[in-house]
Amino acid sequence: MKKIYLDYAATTPTDPEVMAAMEPYYFERFGNASSLHAYGQEAKKALEDSRQTLADFIGAKPEEIVFTSGGTESDNFALLGAAYALEKKGNHIITSAIEHHAITEPAKFLEKKGFKVTYLGVDKDGLVSGDDLKKAITDKTILISVMHANNEIGTLQPIDQLGKIAKEKGIYFHTDAVQTLGHIPINVDQLNVDLLSLSAHKFYGPKGVGALYIRKGTRLETFLRGGDQERGRRASTHNTTGIVGLAKAIELCQKTMESEIKFQSALRDRLIKEIPLKVPEVRLNGHPQKRLPNNVNFSIKYIEGESMLLSLDMLGIACSTGSACTSSSLEPSHVLLAIGLDHATAHGSLRITLGRFTRESDIDYFLEKLPLVVQKLRAMSPLYERKNP
Ligand SMILES: *Cc1c(COP(=O)(O)O)cnc(C)c1O
Repeated sequence: MKKIYLDYAATTPTDPEVMAAMEPYYFERFGNASSLHAYGQEAKKALEDSRQTLADFIGAKPEEIVFTSGGTESDNFALLGAAYALEKKGNHIITSAIEHHAITEPAKFLEKKGFKVTYLGVDKDGLVSGDDLKKAITDKTILISVMHANNEIGTLQPIDQLGKIAKEKGIYFHTDAVQTLGHIPINVDQLNVDLLSLSAHKFYGPKGVGALYIRKGTRLETFLRGGDQERGRRASTHNTTGIVGLAKAIELCQKTMESEIKFQSALRDRLIKEIPLKVPEVRLNGHPQKRLPNNVNFSIKYIEGESMLLSLDMLGIACSTGSACTSSSLEPSHVLLAIGLDHATAHGSLRITLGRFTRESDIDYFLEKLPLVVQKLRAMSPLYERKNP
């Protein structure tokens, strides 16, 4: 049977070149980067070279990079770290209604601890408005966190403009760039951000490693306490192997980004054009233009996303309904509700995300199978029967 992976937003395969770069650091170069002997110094050099590669890629200085265990830790570090460092200054945080759980859960935790959190709504395409942000700011606001691109519907936020509003008020601005880093160009100065989260497994690096960019002068309470790694900002022995993999993945993205954007957005636009022609009564979710080059999200009316996912899986096609975290619960995705979908429509969403190893023939196969799956499921759907007796 054919096997087609169309779920790159959930995770990406490790690029073979990344794996090759990492391998020596599991074996002959296994040293602890904090050790003084030659093994340690070899690991330390690899660590600092990797830090430089990432810093150069996003227009930062190496000392502004802290390596972490991934996107979730970076998001938690930014939110909790800023909240506890600045709690004497103010207790108000602003974020959006469509953030990843790695932001909304720590935000809810902070609410329990006495902080006030404003969740900015979005328009029907998933965009946060600068005017709404301005209105929400008070003299107690210490942090604003808005994601660069949404992992479910792919909408790209105008972070440069939102960041500028924060900058003018002297408020820290964080962005979760886990879906964009390595996929579209990023420069921390152009984006006007003080804090930026990223994760290697979303751009062909290994799982369990990421980083938080912390602009010089930004005060953050330490997250993991222990040894004095990362200038005392994040204790624990460096995951040198993973960090070397992250840097190699960045190098590859740097080389291929331009052509991948072109190729993937052409496939994306083909799906956006052809799905409604082959499947009646669908709705595109997310902004029609301001969206990730690899993201397609449709609500397919009268059927359940879950059944669609499983039927496609039986044909060897892997995609997603909502996000991986929401698909295992019965609550529809908070992102789809925030853009105004009713519960039934939100339950019937299908996310297709493309990547480096997607081929035109994969899209042909998908477009051949999807209408058959939808037809079969609609034939069994009481909702569909009521609508089309
Ligand atoms: C995947 C993802 C995360 C979590 O990153 P992990 O490295 O898996 O912890 C956070 N935010 C967004 C937008 C993501 O897509």
